[in-house]
Amino acid sequence: MTNDVTLTSYSGLDDRIVIIRAGDEVDAVFVGTDRFNVLIDTLGTPSQCRHALNMLADRMQGRPLIVVNSHMDWDHFWGNRAVSGAPIIAHQSAIERLRDPSALRTLAEKRKTESRFNEVELVSPNLTFSGDGMTLHGGDLTLHLFHTPGHTPDHLAVWIPEIETCLAVDAVEHPIPEVWSSAPEDLRSLCSSLNAIRGLKAKHLVLAHGQTSDPSIVDRNIAYFENIQNAVAHIPASALEQEVLDDREGMMLEDFIELPAGMSVETLEFYRRCHRSNLAATFATRRASRPAGPEKTNASVA
Ligand SMILES: [Zn+2]
Repeated sequence: MTNDVTLTSYSGLDDRIVIIRAGDEVDAVFVGTDRFNVLIDTLGTPSQCRHALNMLADRMQGRPLIVVNSHMDWDHFWGNRAVSGAPIIAHQSAIERLRDPSALRTLAEKRKTESRFNEVELVSPNLTFSGDGMTLHGGDLTLHLFHTPGHTPDHLAVWIPEIETCLAVDAVEHPIPEVWSSAPEDLRSLCSSLNAIRGLKAKHLVLAHGQTSDPSIVDRNIAYFENIQNAVAHIPASALEQEVLDDREGMMLEDFIELPAGMSVETLEFYRRCHRSNLAATFATRRASRPAGPEKTNASVA
């Protein structure tokens, strides 16, 4: 994994948008509007975030900075200390995630693995919205922040209608997104968030992982979930209680998607874990939808 910060863009993407790339760790996004600048996510450390802001200095043009935290996964908000004087917007459920003891536990664990996390403090968002969304009126550009739960309960994406651009962050991911838990409602949320994003018909779909703005990724993500659902529907009921799901024949990650060329072993292992979570949620959904009472088998019919 590399995490050096660089600025980049995609072909055809409006030049008021800058992609802030922390190596292959994560992408954040800067949007310059007439009235203010918006930073969507602050990367994994304050130093990375500060570095990005320095590189963006000539684009700031004295306009105020508004920060948006897409969700409380470490790679998206641990840089908040670098912007703690700015308004930091998030969905209300982000606050609940931060209050959960697991937030500090993750920080303690990551500090053990890499010293760059020693400077991280958990800086909370200071403006939150509940419900479906809120809107930032930048004058030339409008940023609709809309709740897209499923990957995490607090996840939000950003839709900028004037330039038909959606900043999907982690709601859409290349090659696959990961569901929050194996609870059927989380899988349902993730699928409806994917459908909501597909409904926008964005020309540019900017992701935080996968380094692409290809709008067809959302179709591929939806097809992936439909395909695992179909595959799980054909598994005999007697096998549904098994713990290990993804080493069954026809159930491996590569049975459902084409693995991106040149993917590192580490990244592949990460997406295998995502696939395992998604399969577990799909199995749980099927178990939950099974009718109560004894199952009919051929033997009992005969
Ligand atoms: Zn992420």
